[in-house]
Amino acid sequence: EAKRQRDGEAQFFQQAQEDELEDRLTLERELKHAIDHDELCLHLQPQVDAHRQVIGAEALVRWQHPERGMISPGRFIPIAEETGLILPLGHWVLKEGCRLLGEWRHQPACCHLKLSLNVSVRQFQQPDFADQVLAVIQQYDAPPERLTLELTESLLLSDPDGTICKMQQLQQRGVSFALDDFGTGYSSLAYLKLLPLDTLKIDITFVRDLTLDMQATPIAATIVALAESLGLGVIAEGVETEDQRLVLANLGCRIYQGFLFGRPVQPESFSKAIQCHQDK
Ligand code: C2E
Ligand code: MG
Ligand code: MG
Ligand code: MG
Repeated sequence: EAKRQRDGEAQFFQQAQEDELEDRLTLERELKHAIDHDELCLHLQPQVDAHRQVIGAEALVRWQHPERGMISPGRFIPIAEETGLILPLGHWVLKEGCRLLGEWRHQPACCHLKLSLNVSVRQFQQPDFADQVLAVIQQYDAPPERLTLELTESLLLSDPDGTICKMQQLQQRGVSFALDDFGTGYSSLAYLKLLPLDTLKIDITFVRDLTLDMQATPIAATIVALAESLGLGVIAEGVETEDQRLVLANLGCRIYQGFLFGRPVQPESFSKAIQCHQDK
C-alpha cells in the first residue's frame, strides 16, 4: 500500500514537472514569435523629484499575448535569459526606447525627460553591446544624454574590466548608468568606485518596510549615505505611501519611483499626462 502511494506521488510529481517543462517550451516558442510580430510594448513609469515634478521614466517591457492577455516580465524575462531570446528582446527594447526618445525631442512637454532602459547581463556582455547602443541612438536620432541604462550588480561577478570599458565608451557619448535593485546583489565596494555610474536605485524590498514610527531600515540609510559618499544620485524604487516618501526624504533621497506617483502606463498615456500637467 505504502509503495503504491509512493509510486502515485512520484508519478504526480513527474507529471507536474513535464507540464511545467511543456509550459515553458510553449512560452519560449511564443515569445520568439512575439518579438518578431510586435506583441511586445514598453510601459513607462514616472520618476519624480522632491517637488513631484516628473524628471524621467523607466521603460518596463510588457507582452500583449493575443490569447493569454498581458504577461508580466517576471514571467518571461527569466525564460528569455535562459534561452538566449533576451538578446533579440533586449535589442527590441533598445530600439523602442530610442525611438520614443527621438519622438520626445519634438514634444515640448517631454523633450527634457530622461528615459531608463533595463539591460540584462547577457545583453550587456555581448562584445559589441556599446556599438549596438550607439548605432540605435543614431538610427532614431535620440539624444544620448537623455538615455540611462539600468544594470544589475551581477554584471560585476564575471567581467569587471569589460564592463567598465563598455560603460566608459557609452558614457563618453553621454549615456548614463544606474545600478538597479541595489543592495540585493553582491557588489564589491571597491568595484563600485571604479564604475562610471550615475545613480544607485534602492531596491523595493528596502523601501517596503519603511514607516514613520519605526527607525528607517539601516539598509536604506546606508545606501543613501553610500551614494552620497561616492558622489552618486539615488532613486528609491517602489514608493507606495507618503510615509515611505517622507522617511526617504529625511534620509536625503531626492528622486522617487513608485505607485504613489504613477503606475507604468502606455507611452501615449504617459505623454498625455505630462502635457496635461504642464498645461495646468
Ligand atoms: P525593475 O527594473 O526593478 O523594475 C521595477 C519593478 O517594480 C517593475 O515591475 C515595476 O512595475 C514595479 N514597481 C514600480 N513601482 C512599484 C510600487 O510602488 N510597488 C510595487 N509593488 N511594484 C512597483 P515589472 O514591470 O513587473 O518588472 C519586473 C522586472 O522585470 C524589472 O524590475 C526588470 O528587472 C525586469 N524588466 C522589465 N522590463 C525589462 C526590460 O525591458 N529588459 C530587461 N532585461 N528586464 C526588464
Ligand atoms: Mg529597472
Ligand atoms: Mg529595480
Ligand atoms: Mg526589481
